[in-house]
Amino acid sequence: MEKRRYNLLLLCVFIVIISITFLTQYSTEVEASSLIVNGQLDLSNKELSEEGPFKLNGDWNFYWQKLLEPTDFKQSVPLHSTLINVPSSWSNQLIDDIALPRDGYGTYRLTLRLNEAEQGKLVSLNMHSIATAYRLWVNDELLASNGVVGDSRDKMIPKEYAKIVTFEVNQPEIEILLQVSNFHQRKSGLWGSITFGTLEQITEHRERGIAIQLFVVGCIFIIGFYHLVLFLILRIEYSALFLAFACFGVVVRTLLLKDTLLISMFPQINWEVAVTLEYLGALIALLFFLLFVKQEMAKDISNKLTNFLVSVVIVYSLFVIFTLARIFTNTFLFFQLLASLIMLIIVIVSVISALRKREGAYLNVVAMLVLFIAVLNDVFYYSQMISTDEFVSLGLLFYLFTQSVHLSKRFAHSFTNVEKLSKELQGLNHSLEQKVVKRTEELQEANKSLQKIESARRRLLASVSHELNTPLTFIQGYIKAMIDGVISKDDSTYLRAVYSDTQMMAHSIQDLQELSKLESGQVSFRFESLDMQAFVLQLYEEQKQVVQERGFHFHYKETVFNARSDDKVFCKIDPIRIKQVYINLLTNAQKFTPAGGVISVEVEIPSLSNSKEVKVSIRDTGQGISEKDLPFIFSHFYKVNRTTNEEQRGVGLGLAIAKEIIEFHEGSVGVKSEQGKGSAFFFTIPIQVIKEEV
Ligand code: ADP
Repeated sequence: MEKRRYNLLLLCVFIVIISITFLTQYSTEVEASSLIVNGQLDLSNKELSEEGPFKLNGDWNFYWQKLLEPTDFKQSVPLHSTLINVPSSWSNQLIDDIALPRDGYGTYRLTLRLNEAEQGKLVSLNMHSIATAYRLWVNDELLASNGVVGDSRDKMIPKEYAKIVTFEVNQPEIEILLQVSNFHQRKSGLWGSITFGTLEQITEHRERGIAIQLFVVGCIFIIGFYHLVLFLILRIEYSALFLAFACFGVVVRTLLLKDTLLISMFPQINWEVAVTLEYLGALIALLFFLLFVKQEMAKDISNKLTNFLVSVVIVYSLFVIFTLARIFTNTFLFFQLLASLIMLIIVIVSVISALRKREGAYLNVVAMLVLFIAVLNDVFYYSQMISTDEFVSLGLLFYLFTQSVHLSKRFAHSFTNVEKLSKELQGLNHSLEQKVVKRTEELQEANKSLQKIESARRRLLASVSHELNTPLTFIQGYIKAMIDGVISKDDSTYLRAVYSDTQMMAHSIQDLQELSKLESGQVSFRFESLDMQAFVLQLYEEQKQVVQERGFHFHYKETVFNARSDDKVFCKIDPIRIKQVYINLLTNAQKFTPAGGVISVEVEIPSLSNSKEVKVSIRDTGQGISEKDLPFIFSHFYKVNRTTNEEQRGVGLGLAIAKEIIEFHEGSVGVKSEQGKGSAFFFTIPIQVIKEEV
């Protein structure tokens, strides 16, 4: 919505600019054509400074194939004259019912009757658009000439250059005599209006025209230059390059028309070159404008059509370059048709693109229509079908203005995009750095634990060989003693000892296998969600009778902190493995507690908000563990005292296995013990959910 309003505003601004430009340019001129009758213009009842300037349009006296001078009119026999309409090429007119040819020469004559009040004042004629050489007399005085007038192609030199001719009014009647010859181009004679007024009016009028033209041309040039630089920097925006050349084409052409400013700047430019440049300027503008549109709306215009049109324009341009003006200016009709056709195609393409809702297409259509109308105007103006003025440069300026808006928008858009991207990139960089730091830390951590594992592995290997070596040495000793006959082969005590040692070794190997599987993650756990209280109570119940039969006091205790005692606490556990841990701890407690001692199983349920783990402890009143042994109790093969007590003999791997299993449950193991008083081994398991009993 906002965008549309913005575009509308743009359009209004331009309509206003164009209107002002042209209203100021034309409002001061009065059409005087109706006043010129039979080669005479009566301004005797008009005040020049008030009502002027006047366009000297109308029926002038004309002498075909005669180059007359003021003296020729002093003779008593009047010359045979005809009337010719100005402004218009003579080749467009009939004299005595015969169409005049393009090439030829003649004399124009006009008598001006002025107001008495104008006597002694300076008046001026704005001479332009006269094809293609002239000589001007005012009241018998040769005042100006352009090129060299001649009665054949060889005798004349063409030139087209706008001039202001000023003279003093020293008699009531002013005779304007103009010799014109043309053998060089399509237009012939007075094809544009000559303006007459006071010196101030004419200079002011011409200055205003030049100012407007320079403004328009300057704007177009700067926009073109800007796009050229843009292309040179970016290299990929070919549309910018094409637009730049289209601008330069229009600049050259506009500077050669009407006020012929380029000739004022470079008087040495030859007429032939100037006309060629005028045509080429238009052709170059057309060609690059077409390429620009093709680049911008590639999806809406076919390749074949553009290629065809481009080749036609190029071939025609070569024709213009390599032939003389008197030949190529005759193909003006073809040029007009070509220009109109290309512009029409471009307008159609713009409309299609707008219908397909392409970015910036609406504004483009409006601008393109304005430009199209300007081109049509110029086509009709230069074919002398309408008497407006040259409009293409203004139309193009309007178009360029809209394009600049479009381009600026596109750049602003890209710029904000780049900003956004670089911000994102910065963010990404930052988070990458953080990630790298984190990963490095993790790697260091992993490295450390790898080192730990490695040293543990070495320790394990050392202890394994030591642990297996001890019973093996015993076995070897017994068997050697038997072979040597030191002990009797029939003595079953030693055989039993050997058997016990092999059992012990087998046990060790089993435990080791299990531990190494656990440590390397080869054991698969079957986790289930279980009610922890119920599960531990069941374990207790299962073992209760056996433990009590062995002469222990065996108890079960449940402590629930703050939670409602009816709530059920669920943990994700592998019941077989947890039972293994429980049995291990319970067996140890029995091993290291003398008969009659107390063993209890305790479950602690935390308060809901506090801890998130269930704690299971096996407490005994046995021998306890010394403070120096406590830190190593969960290590491989750690045994407090190398007891000979058959019952207390163990491998020293049970607690290490228990620790491994509990850590798989993301819990922890620990022990509290006091020598001589007893031990409390415990493990914790994270709570999964607490289900409230309704
Ligand atoms: P084992 O398989 O030989 O029982 P453990 O790893 O289970 O080995 O135990 C390691 C050592 O920890 C035992 O040799 C013992 O000295 C000590 N220990 C374990 N449980 C108790 C306990 N309840 N009271 C006293 N000492 C214990």
